[in-house]
Amino acid sequence: MGAEKQADLHTHTSRSDGLLEPAELVALANDAGLAAVAITDHDNTAGVHDAVSAASALEIEVVPGIEVSTRTANREIHLLGLFIDPDAEVLAGLSRRQRKWRRERAEVMVERAIKLGLDIDLARVDALAAGAPIGRPHLAQVLLDAGEVISTQDAFDRYLGIGKPCSVPKQMVDTKDAIAAVHEAGGAAVVAHPGSSRVREKILTELASAGLDGVEVMHPRHERRRQHIVRGLCEKLGLLPSGGSDYHGPGRGDSRLGEHSVPMDWCEGLRQRANRYQTSTKGC
Ligand code: AMP
Ligand code: ZN
Ligand code: FE
Ligand code: FE
Repeated sequence: MGAEKQADLHTHTSRSDGLLEPAELVALANDAGLAAVAITDHDNTAGVHDAVSAASALEIEVVPGIEVSTRTANREIHLLGLFIDPDAEVLAGLSRRQRKWRRERAEVMVERAIKLGLDIDLARVDALAAGAPIGRPHLAQVLLDAGEVISTQDAFDRYLGIGKPCSVPKQMVDTKDAIAAVHEAGGAAVVAHPGSSRVREKILTELASAGLDGVEVMHPRHERRRQHIVRGLCEKLGLLPSGGSDYHGPGRGDSRLGEHSVPMDWCEGLRQRANRYQTSTKGC
C-alpha cells in the first residue's frame, strides 16, 4: 500500500447493528491512519452527525452514507448511498418505512424463537437496538447474552441465517427506487458486496441503466478473483469502484476497520459523481 492515503467506505455503528458509537468508530479509523471513513448504517443516517462532529478535531474525513436493504426480483441487494445529505427528507421517509418493517419482522422472528423454547423476548431486543432499525445481529446478541448460543455466528448458523428456523425475509424498497432516493439526497449509489449477494453482470447492467453509479470491488467477502471480476465489470459498464471493511465492531463479523479499504482516488471519483446530483437538485 505504501504511503498512499486510503478510505474505508463501508462501516456500521451502534446506530444500526454495529457495536461502536459513531465517535468511537471515527477515533479508531483515525488511529488506523485512514484519510476517510464512510458511516453506512443500515437504513438510517442517525450516526452521521455525531461522526462528523467527532472528526472535526481530527485529521480524518467522514463521508456521510447509508446502506439500504433493497429488492430486485427475488434478490436482496444492499445499496450504499455515499456523500448523501443525512437530513434529506427522502431518506428520512425511507428510514421510517424500513424501521417499521424491520420491527414487524423482529416480532415474527422472536415468536419463532420462543416456540423453539429459546430464552428471548421482544423487550430485550428493543432495548438492545435502542431505536436503531432492528437487524438479526440484535437477536443474535440477545441469544448470546441469554446463553442460548456460544457466539453471534453460532446464532446465525443455528437459528438466524437464511433457511434456518427463525429467519424471516425483510420487506424492502425496490432497488431502482432506492437509487433514485440516493440521488435525490445528493449521493452516489453503489451496490455493496455483489459477490455475497450473487449480483452478477445481468443485474448490474440493468441497474447501471437505472442510474447506478458504482459497485464494491473491495469487501471482506470478495476474494481476489471476485475483486478482479467486479473491477472488469466496472470498466465494461462504466461503474465507479468502491469498497470497505463492512466493519461492525470488535468481535462482530469477520473484518477489522480499514481492511479492504480503497485508494483516495476512488473516493474522489465517487465524490465528484455525487456532486453532479447535488448541483442538479439545487437548480430545481
Ligand atoms: P438483517 O439486516 O437483519 O438481515 O441482518 C443483516 C446483518 O446480519 C448483516 O449486515 C451481517 O452483519 C449479519 N449477517 C447476515 N448473515 C450472516 C451470517 N450468515 N453470519 C453472520 N452474520 C450475518
Ligand atoms: Zn449489519
Ligand atoms: Fe450489506
Ligand atoms: Fe454493511
